[in-house]
Amino acid sequence: MTAKNMEELVALAKRRGFIFQSSDIYGGLQGVYDYGPLGVELKNNLKAAWWRAMVYDRDDVEGLDAAILTNPTTLRYSGHEATFTDPLVDCRACKSRWRADHLNGDQCPNCGSNDLTEPRPFNLMFKTAVGPVDDGGSFAYLRPETAQAIFTNFKNILDSTSPKLPFGIAQIGKAFRNEITPRNFIFRVREFEQMELEFFVKPGEDEHWHEQWVAERLSWWAAQGVNETNLELYHVPAEELAHYSKSTVDLMYRFPHGLEELEGIANRTDYDLGSHTKNQKDYDIQANVQPNTDANAKLAIQDLESKAWQIPYVIEPSAGVDRGVLAVMNEAYTIERLDDGKERTVMRFKPHLAPIKVAILPLKRNHEGIVTKAKELKKTLQKLGLGRILYEDTGNIGKGYRRHDEVGTPLCVTVDFQTIEEDDTVTIRNRDTMAQERVHTSDLSAYVSQYMSQ
Ligand code: ATP
Repeated sequence: MTAKNMEELVALAKRRGFIFQSSDIYGGLQGVYDYGPLGVELKNNLKAAWWRAMVYDRDDVEGLDAAILTNPTTLRYSGHEATFTDPLVDCRACKSRWRADHLNGDQCPNCGSNDLTEPRPFNLMFKTAVGPVDDGGSFAYLRPETAQAIFTNFKNILDSTSPKLPFGIAQIGKAFRNEITPRNFIFRVREFEQMELEFFVKPGEDEHWHEQWVAERLSWWAAQGVNETNLELYHVPAEELAHYSKSTVDLMYRFPHGLEELEGIANRTDYDLGSHTKNQKDYDIQANVQPNTDANAKLAIQDLESKAWQIPYVIEPSAGVDRGVLAVMNEAYTIERLDDGKERTVMRFKPHLAPIKVAILPLKRNHEGIVTKAKELKKTLQKLGLGRILYEDTGNIGKGYRRHDEVGTPLCVTVDFQTIEEDDTVTIRNRDTMAQERVHTSDLSAYVSQYMSQ
């Protein structure tokens, strides 16, 4: 099951502390959101799962965490200054602004007028002044994608890790785009995070690796609990391709507002490394990149046998963290009718993504023996390093279970009189089945570890 509409997700996200409008008390800031106590856990867990799959589970990928502020020259040679634009139209009647390719026909979605201006290119990059004097002469861009710093660090990483083709560089971080019409909650925002891999391959092997990465990424999203029936591949037609791309496959997800891009997997060829390389004519690269006289690096790799220098091609799976969080929340959202006719809302997150792994609930919040035992168990489970274990002494177990269903806590552990007076067992209550079983405290760590590894 998924949410019926975006409003259901927005309401739950706010009520339970996943996601808030940014600067809420001052009326908000359009296209900017903050992640609350549970949202930060969910987002971190999703990023950690990506990092594990992209870096730790492989031996051909290194990580990077580069700066957000970017030298304008980088974005000149990458082509972003000239071409990173969306077509902007103004409605002359109501003065609203729209992205031309998002309009239905030539009608203003706000007032219905047909009196729209011709589309004109609007650059999406944010600029910011650098240094104490804001005279416009010294500025930086907030990066519009994390990828460029991977290309500009190519030589540094090559020199420090000596990789052989094919190899990749992975990065997770913020990106900024001055979207004309941010909308659909965290789907289209002005400040967001990307998880990007640049996977460098020998020219000629690029198409094979492109296919390979599309398949890998589909199965990764399935492992995050995204139902494959809600994913579709879109082979981007030539006229829609970004300036750097030879071919792109978009991974489309059925969001509550419609089928839209969750991740793009592009064959960027040698466009970027070629553009950032000084005296590029020395290398066998595409003809359409601009001559670069500013750079001082040779972003190429030497074949150990033939000794020839070559600019590798690059395959780029680029996923939005925020769009991923939205997809995962939508997939998890379930309303169930219970035997007694009541409804319960359950977030069926995969255990590795759940914001809280286990909630420890003492039956009586003022009973010293029970409280001590419950706190002790929290400490023990926390040491397993699985993520957040919460000790919560609200004293009402039934309500605790319902609240934890709604935030997607896979297991609740209740400590009661039987635990401390009789047999040192606790009740484990399962979010998905609602089944309860008694487990000896000495078996609890093994039980929890095993459950979370599924
Ligand atoms: P769109 O066509 O939806 O504007 P795009 O094709 O420009 O997206 P890419 O440049 O391919 O997006 O960026 C890679 C990924 O970054 C996207 O698949 C998406 O998940 C994420 N992303 C891009 N723009 C935004 C945004 N404004 N808000 C949230 N995520 C974004």
